[in-house]
Amino acid sequence: MQMYSKKSKSNFWIFGIAALLLTSAVILGFLFFNASKKLPSFLRSEHSDALQVSDQQKSRQAVVHYPDFESHPGLQALAENQARLLLNELTAQLDAFPVDSESVWINADYRTQTLSDRYLSVIYDIRWKIGESVTESASGYIIDQETAALAETSAFFDQEGLDRIAAGFRDAMKNQEGIHELAYSWPFIQATAPTAENYPSFYIDQGQLIFQFSAGSLADEKLSWTMPISQLGPHCLLMPEAQETELYIPPRTVDPSRPMIALTYDDGPHVKHTPEILSLLKEYGGAATFFMVGTRVELYPQIVLDIARSGSEAASHTYSHPNLNKLSGSALDFQLNQTTELVKELSGNQLTVQLLRPPYGAIDAEVKSASAYPLIMWNMDTLDWKTRDAAQTIDHVLNYAEDGDIILMHDIHAETADAAKTIIPKLTELGYQLVTVSELMEAKGITYLPGQKVFSASSVKD
Ligand code: ZN
Repeated sequence: MQMYSKKSKSNFWIFGIAALLLTSAVILGFLFFNASKKLPSFLRSEHSDALQVSDQQKSRQAVVHYPDFESHPGLQALAENQARLLLNELTAQLDAFPVDSESVWINADYRTQTLSDRYLSVIYDIRWKIGESVTESASGYIIDQETAALAETSAFFDQEGLDRIAAGFRDAMKNQEGIHELAYSWPFIQATAPTAENYPSFYIDQGQLIFQFSAGSLADEKLSWTMPISQLGPHCLLMPEAQETELYIPPRTVDPSRPMIALTYDDGPHVKHTPEILSLLKEYGGAATFFMVGTRVELYPQIVLDIARSGSEAASHTYSHPNLNKLSGSALDFQLNQTTELVKELSGNQLTVQLLRPPYGAIDAEVKSASAYPLIMWNMDTLDWKTRDAAQTIDHVLNYAEDGDIILMHDIHAETADAAKTIIPKLTELGYQLVTVSELMEAKGITYLPGQKVFSASSVKD
């Protein structure tokens, strides 16, 4: 009995193991068949003709579907390549999950949006199923159907468009948790300058422009940022007929806890040097205050608008640069207010001058009481107008600049514009925010009233 029983037991085990193996094989085979033939519903595409690439590791599976451009092998190859790139990106993210963790499924299904005869936006709605919870992310690209390549940034935006994109992106990152510190850093500022090369990856989804920065390019993680395409007006070349209805002033964030300097430029605008300085400020994410003479505002109204569009401040330096102490009554009032009137008019009431700098710093009691503006002086005079030497202007600024300074220069001189090529990057690299006078006073929490003299953020006098 015992022998029999023993034998029967071992037979039972052999049979049991065989059955288990067989069952497993059937289950595995079924799963394999199922996966290749028909995906679980969560991983399927909404398009019956979709193609797919996928990656499966135990309980983790990612599927990227892509459109079938059967009739066009170039587009087909591009779409497949883009799908593989996205799959690699998703697989890399999958690797962050422990192997034995709950199952993770990722389904990247596409939508397309025709932008023009030439351009097609491919948008990925990506759904992540981790255990029982589902989260979503997005990705995309634009196909240039003429070249069968990705759309070129330079073909999509003009320089003003790139300026707005860079300004908007930098500002958004200054306000984004986790990126905030990085957004003020010198490498980040350089890497986000308004050039086509710095903004290579983007797509359009229902009137929104989405820019993507791959993991490791600007930050460790992938960054994406959305702006309404309408903010670009005709500067998105896809919409050449778009109307610029409002003056676009880029958003700017100033961090009160970081050092800042207000560069100020007098006696312009100048047809060549003011745009040169503005372009440097845009490159490094800074702003300055331009104390303009009314007679020159009349000559170059577009430059006044460019000052505002770049985030800098348009301020008054009287109408024709007289010594205000020698004037009174209506002649004084005219000099104090005419530039403001001109700016209001040329901007269709969209720009208001808030600050005045009296020529030669000449301020007597009558000027003080007649002025509707705070009187902005300076605490550093670079003497750029006297030396007319870029190196001396640079040395002066870099040797003496301190948090809260208001620095006096003149944008009508070539040497001052040359000096800006060093001063603006260098101060930024040293960690200074280049701000307007109004931003400086607001960030430092200083109240200043019409007729008061402002020398710096720490020196306001009656
Ligand atoms: Zn002046």
